Amino acid sequence: MLDKPRHAVDGSRIPSAVRKRFSVALAFDDGYLDHYQIAELLYGRGVRATFFLITGMKYWNNKPLLTHQPQLIRNMRKMKHEIASHTHSHPNLQCITREQVGHELRSSKQYLENLLNEPVEGFAYPYGKYDRRICRTASDYYGYARTAGEPQNPNLYEVPIRSPGSSLRACSLEMTKDMLRSEGFAIILLHATNTRSVRVWIEYMKMFRVHFATVSEIVDAYFVRRNGLTESG
Ligand SMILES: [Zn+2]
Repeated sequence: MLDKPRHAVDGSRIPSAVRKRFSVALAFDDGYLDHYQIAELLYGRGVRATFFLITGMKYWNNKPLLTHQPQLIRNMRKMKHEIASHTHSHPNLQCITREQVGHELRSSKQYLENLLNEPVEGFAYPYGKYDRRICRTASDYYGYARTAGEPQNPNLYEVPIRSPGSSLRACSLEMTKDMLRSEGFAIILLHATNTRSVRVWIEYMKMFRVHFATVSEIVDAYFVRRNGLTESG
């Protein structure tokens, strides 16, 4: 199943809370097998996150990937987490041919859609590497593409993350002012992290009554409309 990417938005799908409160989306890259424990932990606390998965390999950075047990990926989706793509084999997309880029994006989407039996809209550039040509290819297959930085002109195919490279603590302190204003959003990329630090961080966020959303929901609420790509809304 390879559905066309979404360029129109169904407003009824967007929880109104996404725009009324400060929204935070947690993103996890690469799809390590131990992300399953984090998915369960978040589920137990009513928090949904977005997992960007490598789909064509069994190991990355010498760590086993969720592709060892695809059933777990299905379970994560049942927990209402968003499952998104991070390519088939995690290449630097700027160093391969246009055909290879197409293959990486297509294979990964096919794998996830066959597994989940639903459209997969989200994509994240490996190493955060992309250019205009790669953005265009991403738009052929996906509804949005997430970077690993803070691009100058964020848009559907250059979705920013907050405070790249800084620690979770530093990032949270920086966000605190915004959270107190109760508007806006932040997409946080969590690298190697243990369940304990995630737990502590969730409690901190909850003190500010943030709304936890998926990356897809934040993109729907802030990017499609702001860029005027739809007539509705
Ligand atoms: Zn990665």
